[in-house]
Amino acid sequence: MRSITPQSTKDLVIGAGISGLTLGWRLESESLAILEKSKALGGRMATRRVGEYTFDHGAQFFREGIFPELEALWTAKDASTEWFRKGRDRLMCGKGGMTALAKVFEERVFREQLVERIEKTEDRWEVTTEKGDVFLSQRVFLTCPLPQSLKILTNSNLPFPPELNSMLYDKALVGLFGLDPLCKLPTGFDYVDSPSVDVRMIANQYSKRVSPSPAVTVVMSAEWSEQNFDQDEARTLLMIQKQFEEHLAAKGLGARIQNASLKKWRYAFPSKSTACPYLEIMPRLFLLGDAFAHGSLAGAVASAKALAAQLRSRLD
Ligand SMILES: Cc1cc2nc3c(=O)[nH]c(=O)nc-3n(C[C@H](O)[C@H](O)[C@H](O)COP(=O)(O)OP(=O)(O)OC[C@H]3O[C@@H](n4cnc5c(N)ncnc54)[C@H](O)[C@@H]3O)c2cc1C
Repeated sequence: MRSITPQSTKDLVIGAGISGLTLGWRLESESLAILEKSKALGGRMATRRVGEYTFDHGAQFFREGIFPELEALWTAKDASTEWFRKGRDRLMCGKGGMTALAKVFEERVFREQLVERIEKTEDRWEVTTEKGDVFLSQRVFLTCPLPQSLKILTNSNLPFPPELNSMLYDKALVGLFGLDPLCKLPTGFDYVDSPSVDVRMIANQYSKRVSPSPAVTVVMSAEWSEQNFDQDEARTLLMIQKQFEEHLAAKGLGARIQNASLKKWRYAFPSKSTACPYLEIMPRLFLLGDAFAHGSLAGAVASAKALAAQLRSRLD
């Protein structure tokens, strides 16, 4: 246990995914900190480098116009760019990777701070991390995937509505494939939605200008991911690769795979959403995130926006 002077803020956000970062920005709080368990920001809106290849291995894009204020900020900071067009829609992504969108808000994030416990003191919440660091705050906001938030509450002996335990998430197994540099996929091969029952989508990281070398992200369906989640990883990766190659072959295409890796998301998409966009489970202790609206960036942002609007209209 580390013994340090506790950090004290008015607002403490747990989780630096899009909902936590948006909430932090929208609260316009002079005194705010965000605690994130990982080294990287963005949560399920994440980018990973593997050798000469780079992959968005969670969220791939958002439709222009779904959260205008945030988009205006990203444009002003030169963090977003168009990926491709679908009819009249512009599909947008982070410049060089989705994580660029999160980095715009990095200033107040404390990384590698896994929150373990929250305790009520006389007038504040006391939040303790795995490292033993202690943060004091008047208001605390939990934005982790719901089962992870509930785990913190359970560890802390804090009550929450038991029906939240039934909020399940779909898993996602994701194959990250670096291709032979001579095997560029054809123009227009940007994003393939549901190419088969087993594959949720294929995203071209090269046409997105995320990867300097040809690379694709292949996200498997919820059912397939559930069935194979705990199987041997090398075998799972080979099965995903086969599905990708079969898709290419059906289109008369081919690609030599030079690099393959697997990303496992245990909590990828909430399988249903709650009726309200956030919950105040005890005075000044809040739950929010995509499970409270919709399993998408738009849902996560909507949850944060609704809570920030509500708090701005309150006097505490
Ligand atoms: C494979 C995949 C593809 C997707 N594609 C799209 C897409 O193309 N478009 C789209 O709109 N949406 C997409 N989504 C959904 C979208 O990514 C999510 O809905 C959204 O990112 C959720 O944001 P969030 O902030 O609510 O949660 P998260 O992004 O999960 O953020 C929660 C954060 O809390 C942190 N955390 C957890 N526990 C602790 C703890 N104890 N202490 C401290 N920090 C903690 C986590 O590390 C994480 O950073 C996709 C998701 C996946 C998995």
